[in-house]
Amino acid sequence: MFSKVLIANRGEIALRVLRACKELGIQTVAVHSTADADAMHVRLADESVCIGPPPATESYLNIPSIVSACEITGAEAVHPGYGFLSENARFADILEAHDITFIGPSGDHIRVMGDKIRAKETAAKLGIPIVPGSSEGVEDDEATAALAKEIGYPVLIKAAAGGGGRGMKVADGPDDLSRALSTAKSEALKAFGDDAVYLEKYLGHPRHIEIQVLGDGKGAAVHLGERDCSLQRRHQKVWEEAPSPGLNASERVHIGNVAAKAVADMGYSGAGTVEFLYENGEFYFIEMNTRVQVEHPVTEAITGIDIVVEQLRVAAGAPLALRQDQVTFSGHAIECRINAENAQTFAPSPGQITYYHPPGGLGVRVDSAVYQGYTVPPYYDSLIGKLIVHGRDRVECLMRLKRALDEYVVDGVQTTIPLFQDLVGEPAVADGAYDIRWLEQFLAERAAPAS
Ligand code: ADP
Repeated sequence: MFSKVLIANRGEIALRVLRACKELGIQTVAVHSTADADAMHVRLADESVCIGPPPATESYLNIPSIVSACEITGAEAVHPGYGFLSENARFADILEAHDITFIGPSGDHIRVMGDKIRAKETAAKLGIPIVPGSSEGVEDDEATAALAKEIGYPVLIKAAAGGGGRGMKVADGPDDLSRALSTAKSEALKAFGDDAVYLEKYLGHPRHIEIQVLGDGKGAAVHLGERDCSLQRRHQKVWEEAPSPGLNASERVHIGNVAAKAVADMGYSGAGTVEFLYENGEFYFIEMNTRVQVEHPVTEAITGIDIVVEQLRVAAGAPLALRQDQVTFSGHAIECRINAENAQTFAPSPGQITYYHPPGGLGVRVDSAVYQGYTVPPYYDSLIGKLIVHGRDRVECLMRLKRALDEYVVDGVQTTIPLFQDLVGEPAVADGAYDIRWLEQFLAERAAPAS
């Protein structure tokens, strides 16, 4: 096992990784921008290095500074968390060239999955069902119009380098295609510096179902079941749960095994997530994330497996400590992403937290790096905490979630806690009868109630 790991991230995920390292007896190095000098991950780490000014491009995304921080402190490995450099193949390659272990898959696996067109092609070759669409990038020409007609409208134009739901445009019919292509291309260029786009069938009312996988890079892999992340705003997840209220046991086993086999065949190393849309009993691959995800704790809650510990073990060269038949599922878990935002308008609400009281009790986990007196900086994403609740079944989980939300007090900044208090009482949420469109519809109706 490593003796010292550098955590190239901030916020709750930096703390999450730090906790796993501490349990394994690994020394930790935090890196931080000048805006995060007082952050909890810096306080709790054994050592810390300031890597630049507040903008992420000059600090958390600054590869030379992070490599220097490893060299100064003697860190043997880097955990990238999620976001920032976690899916940057060049970063993984540079670390390798410096004899520092990147805690994640190989640069080549990150590269393949980071290009969504190549990812779909690879998935199809590995026997994973994919969304019907173009097998390469598309331009505004006759061939694209013909393909859209063949697949059937509506179609979705997506950025090859996509992420965070950006660069996606729907075309409802042939007259709309040209506009969708040009807006998707310009958004993609702005967000990712790459205007390559591809075309996919637009599914009307699917659920978002993703499979957590772990591979050892030597041909062994397991899956840890699914998460349902259908409650989304602007294609971004808001609430995640496991197991999915929309799958039955045989579908679960089937899709889990498909994903685990693909990962084993790829020789994939570390944690990953194979994401699908699920509609009318069919699964359609959309992408694979080659890192730990924000919503990993719901899987940890129902399996008892520490996903970050497994990432560290595999990166250190250990074989997978788990066989598929040793992975068992117990109860139900839900995660709410608590953001420092106005719960109606979603406008960011940075500032000082004047009073902070997180909920507790049986089955309640809060992953957060904030504390009373902490100032939420305006430079980064607005996630200030994740509330994860576990119950013996979904009904108990929802009761506990309602109670925990009522207990959670954050003063000084606005948060999205009131949104979750509304959601937990909604019949469609209580019944698990929602798809990826439901939350947007709910928010639109809430903003403009029928008179
Ligand atoms: P990103 O990497 O930007 O998050 P994804 O491909 O993972 O993009 O898709 C994000 C979300 O966008 C999905 O969870 C779903 O809500 C929606 N989406 C993506 N592809 C389709 C599709 N073919 N049809 C309908 N909705 C889609």
